Amino acid sequence: NSAVPPKVGKEENLRSPICCIMGHVDTGKTKLLDCIRGTNVQEGEAGGITQQIGATYFPSENIRERTKELKADAKLKVPGLLVIDTPGHESFTNLRSRGSGLCDIAILVVDIMHGLEPQTIESLNLLKMRNTEFIVALNKVDRLYGWKTCRDSPIVKAMKQQSKDVRDEFNTRLARIITQFKEQGLNTESYYKNKAMGETYSIVPTSAISGEGIPDLLLLLVQWTQKTMVGKLRYSDEVQCTVLEVKVVEGHGTTIDVVLVNGVLHEGDQIVVCGMQRAIVTTIRALLTPHPMKELRVKGTYLHHKEIKAAMGIKISAQGLENAIAGTMLYVVKPGDVGVEDYIKAAEEDKNSVMGRIDK
Ligand code: GDP
Repeated sequence: NSAVPPKVGKEENLRSPICCIMGHVDTGKTKLLDCIRGTNVQEGEAGGITQQIGATYFPSENIRERTKELKADAKLKVPGLLVIDTPGHESFTNLRSRGSGLCDIAILVVDIMHGLEPQTIESLNLLKMRNTEFIVALNKVDRLYGWKTCRDSPIVKAMKQQSKDVRDEFNTRLARIITQFKEQGLNTESYYKNKAMGETYSIVPTSAISGEGIPDLLLLLVQWTQKTMVGKLRYSDEVQCTVLEVKVVEGHGTTIDVVLVNGVLHEGDQIVVCGMQRAIVTTIRALLTPHPMKELRVKGTYLHHKEIKAAMGIKISAQGLENAIAGTMLYVVKPGDVGVEDYIKAAEEDKNSVMGRIDK
């Protein structure tokens, strides 16, 4: 019976929330991703500076496994979590200023030893401007003098293992940072004390080195988004897709890394992408993803897919992508649709707005 409305609960058909990581340089953004993923991108990078954009998908089974100590019965309604790295990459400037709602939620990383720094404030202003929800990861708690390592432990449990001196130092630093946020006009509180999420932003103490607080961070991200963003996260067939990066890959020629926010992409789909001279009309030759839990930019073989459903980070191989522009939208021409011209026009408009911002 087609008149039956979709059921709520398990069959709500939500897409994965998309999360980005922001914050001052050296606060541990890359290390935090590495820790969640179990990879080591940070040490492989010159100076530890993130050079490229990546997107990592964490399936809900993985999140369930990582958070089981917190709440065995944690109900995960979303398929997973898609995390976008936020590097000092220029294409990100386009993404940032697009305000396209690419990210549903952000992790704002603050170093507990340094507090709020210039780029923390910059990130805060961007988040405010975009009206993006965020969670603060108060990172490097293991640097508190005398910290006792409790590998991958929930933070409250880890805190109970600490001496009074460590807990005092933690509380002093936390209070100072809450005051700094207040000076920026924001109420914050440690997440386990936060009774007014939505008005008061949550702080999750973490260590990207020994993993304390990481289960808390993952669970909070998923629970908060699936609780408060049901409308935004409802899966839709309407393709919404943004180009993150244009890259030459051995064996695939010029490829584009995209974030598919909504809808499905298929091998053989006709697509329209913004180009430097004119819009590029081409056909998807291959839809590639890294192996689960590895980031797009980690070298290695890719998995091929006939079709991929949102939300996901995808590498697309197709002819003629050499002059594609990062930060713009990708359109899919539906068979029997209005014709490709409308998409070309949309892509041209998209380009003008992105290029306009680059010029500024
Ligand atoms: P990013 O610039 O924000 O991406 O910072 P990185 O992830 O490159 O980290 C900067 C430095 O801080 C590196 O030397 C990391 O090993 C170190 N680091 C990151 N997270 C932690 C942490 O939780 N504890 C400690 N002790 N060091 C950390």
